[in-house]
Amino acid sequence: MLPNYDSRPIQEIKLPVSKDILKVKPYTVAQEQIVLESMVDLSNKSEFLINIKRILEANITSEYNIDDMFLIDLIYLNLKLRSISKSEMIEYQIQCDNNECEQFNKPQKCVDEVEDIIFVKNSEKCKKIVKIDDKLTIELQPVKLDFVDYLASKTDSKIDIDNDSDERIDKILIKETLELALVNIAYSIKKVIFEGKVFNEFTIEELLEKILSQLTEAQIQDLQKEKNDMANLYLKIRKKCESCGKIFERVEDDFFVFLT
Ligand SMILES: [Zn+2]
Repeated sequence: MLPNYDSRPIQEIKLPVSKDILKVKPYTVAQEQIVLESMVDLSNKSEFLINIKRILEANITSEYNIDDMFLIDLIYLNLKLRSISKSEMIEYQIQCDNNECEQFNKPQKCVDEVEDIIFVKNSEKCKKIVKIDDKLTIELQPVKLDFVDYLASKTDSKIDIDNDSDERIDKILIKETLELALVNIAYSIKKVIFEGKVFNEFTIEELLEKILSQLTEAQIQDLQKEKNDMANLYLKIRKKCESCGKIFERVEDDFFVFLT
């Protein structure tokens, strides 16, 4: 029987949010294949993230509780591992939006180093204390991987594109978007301080039922605003169209967009 061949060099990577330093191996060709396959259908984001989680588990050689990881740290680590496997480079596409250009709306291939296009904003802000009113204060942190598990368990959208009216689709969309926003906030809550008493053990259902659904829309928006001001990854691209020379700039907060 052949021995399992593994010549991959171990490398240290510092995570942007937790600041933990991990020892990791780059992706193997087989692992890269799994990631690529689950990326083909990005409508199933949860499966994609679960695959990435599994692969990361296999590649981290230091002892680390991956389930307690911040989601941003996981995405960052994944981007780094992909880029290490492909010698630090990341491939993506841009499309020229100048409608007089020969290359209008045609994809142009770009290659960049991860460090040049992926940035972490507010990496020092991993905790936010939000005073709702005199009685209630909420402590926020960036979401962890249990939020991914929630996304995985979430049943599909109730929208039936073939049969629902536009009006009904709009209504369902608004409802589902609000639900997701509330759940996202719930997963970001580390502590609830009510009348001076600190609560740090509760379920997501409890948070939604007893706290979040009792707040006003304005209070939810405040929480959302504070949440958005915490540590996050973003992508920043500045490229010149090869054909017309127009400068193309893009700043993207949604990491799923640039993983394709
Ligand atoms: Zn152009």
